[in-house]
Amino acid sequence: MTFSGSASSSAQFPRDGLPEVAFLGRSNVGKSSLLNALAGAKGLARVSSSPGRTRLINFFNVKGLGKSAHGGHSELYLVDLPGYGYAKASRSAREEWERLVNSYLEARETLQLCVFIVDARHEPSEGDQTLRTWLDHHGHPYVVAANKMDKMGRDQGRRRARSLGETIGPCAEAVVPVSATKGTGIGELWNHIRAAAFDRPFEASV
Ligand code: GDP
Repeated sequence: MTFSGSASSSAQFPRDGLPEVAFLGRSNVGKSSLLNALAGAKGLARVSSSPGRTRLINFFNVKGLGKSAHGGHSELYLVDLPGYGYAKASRSAREEWERLVNSYLEARETLQLCVFIVDARHEPSEGDQTLRTWLDHHGHPYVVAANKMDKMGRDQGRRRARSLGETIGPCAEAVVPVSATKGTGIGELWNHIRAAAFDRPFEASV
């Protein structure tokens, strides 16, 4: 996994037409840890998070994922969208977040899947509900990654995954229980990513 660049507006998004999988969630939910766990599972280099990048959209290129069903792409971008829900965020910072994330979700034809990360221990926040509404509104396919599963027992984890499926997951393709720190569920998440990026009909207009 290599860092390809950051964008603060749509003019700076990549134009090479590769499939993209976007990662969204509230700040501190474990988004950077999850990206690094995904990279680690493929033997790719971990990417350090730089504080300056947290309010930008960051593009990470991943190569060598094998042949796609159509014999085409085996390369994609994992896209790290800025986290939301800072308690102390100013109104202008919130508006800026909304503008940037919406500019991406609204018109990104190469976007094949969103990974909506939530903390499995908690009920969805107001920000989570807003994001869910946007994803449903834009009709983007998404999976819910229920993170920090290692913080609870197996039965409680199952119950929480089921409950999240009901609250934010009705339109999701799946709720995938994961632990970014322990590596649980990372293979299953890769399967969803690969299927979405390479096996879906893909008609990017560059
Ligand atoms: P981000 O703000 O969403 O990028 O979150 P980070 O990846 O920086 O993680 C925030 C905090 O949660 C850090 O202290 C991580 O070590 C911790 N964390 C992330 N994922 C997990 C997980 O699966 N289990 C546990 N126990 N902690 C996690």
